[in-house]
Amino acid sequence: MKKYEFWFVVGSQSLYGPEVLETVAQRAAEMARKMSANLPFPLVYKVTAMSNAQITRIIREANYDDSCAGIVTWCHTFSPSKMWINGLASLQKPWCHFATQYNREIPNEDIDMDFMNLNQAAHGDREHGFIGARLRAPRKVIAGYWENEDVQARIAAWMKAAVGVAVSRDMKVMRFGDNMREVAVTEGDKVEVQMKLGWQVNTWAVGDLVKEMNAVTEAEIDALVAQYTADYDIATGNTEAVRYQAREEIAMKKMLEAEGCMAFSNTFQDLYGMEQLPGLASQHLMAQGYGYGGEGDWKVSAMTAIMKAMGENGNGASAFMEDYTYHLVEGREYSLGAHMLEVCPSLAAGRPRIETHPLGIGMNEKDPARLVFEGKEGDAIVVSLIDVGGRLRLICQDIHCVKPIMPMPNLPVARVMWQAEPSLTTGVECWIMAGGAHHTVLSYDVTAEQMRDWARMMDIEFVHIGRDTTPEKLEQELFLNDLAWKLK
Ligand code: MN
Repeated sequence: MKKYEFWFVVGSQSLYGPEVLETVAQRAAEMARKMSANLPFPLVYKVTAMSNAQITRIIREANYDDSCAGIVTWCHTFSPSKMWINGLASLQKPWCHFATQYNREIPNEDIDMDFMNLNQAAHGDREHGFIGARLRAPRKVIAGYWENEDVQARIAAWMKAAVGVAVSRDMKVMRFGDNMREVAVTEGDKVEVQMKLGWQVNTWAVGDLVKEMNAVTEAEIDALVAQYTADYDIATGNTEAVRYQAREEIAMKKMLEAEGCMAFSNTFQDLYGMEQLPGLASQHLMAQGYGYGGEGDWKVSAMTAIMKAMGENGNGASAFMEDYTYHLVEGREYSLGAHMLEVCPSLAAGRPRIETHPLGIGMNEKDPARLVFEGKEGDAIVVSLIDVGGRLRLICQDIHCVKPIMPMPNLPVARVMWQAEPSLTTGVECWIMAGGAHHTVLSYDVTAEQMRDWARMMDIEFVHIGRDTTPEKLEQELFLNDLAWKLK
């Protein structure tokens, strides 16, 4: 992934005189340096801004610098906000207003009027907050002492969401074939999506992929199969099927790299010239950070790539998922998630096995090889992006993944099992009412708060189904959202 950084822009004014301003600048540089040690991306101190021209200049620089993924502002002293209007009105990068102060404590003996003049973030940040509200500028407000671990963790989480914005604006999706025939929820307005989210979603002929597959050499296949063998247990005698998947993976990766695409989709209804639906091939590409969506679902594919980037270096994973079937025993209700083949092995609790089985659906001529495993335990979210006509809605639900409660020895695909908030069935009622898709991105790394931040920065609707959600409240929220977004 690209190297990203964030800029620390500190507000002030020239009235304070050089001595105070020099102290502010030194402290701001110290804070940025010390916080950077605990943040996923460097926070680079840029300026103690004292005029409209200075603020406008730094914001223009932030807009045009590809490595700058967002700005963090703070007012150590008072910074009259009319100085910020021209700059903030042209800001195109994510913005976090960090309301903090240099000193943790009020120094009982030492506090005098000089101290008060230097340390007035309490009202400096309020003036700064007003102009953000007055401009209706999308922003994250985080308040707390800058050396506290929990405060730094919140800035870290916001930074990752902001990197999700940068990745989104660069996103290119390669579609092999169209969407599965007659399916509604995987459709969407690609022009609107490109305007809002930046995604370039385009199609490539399956015939071109087949041509690329035919050009793959046996030596290339040997090398990739050696990697499969190192990472996975081979639980099939069908070597040819595994080698065929390697051929598919190599060809797809060459095409993705040549076009700079980080996500792709295909459909089992359009495999003309291919013997197998890519299973292991797609799974191994996902493990390398590529997004994928089955049945032509380019929206879930791009969201998977974005959330993988947001969760990079986390403890878990983000992956393409589908709610498949339920366990509805009272008091022990679970959803079983899987896909026809394509579940990302980053979800696996143990070492995945490569198996081959028949696949009755689609254009498969031969049994496709795929990775089979159980998903790991842990708190997670599932996310669905839908086009509700005239706007995009991002739906996010809190879930708890468990070790599957039964072995299901005859199920030939990877599986993840979870409980949902507020409960399985109420969650299903809410999800269905909001129009959420059967395809989702499941993530152990990214939180609902980060997805809310991302949606705010992208200017799309966000719906969260969590512990406190009721169908009554959600119905009201969806109704009011619909009106609000039509007026916006
Ligand atoms: Mn599907």
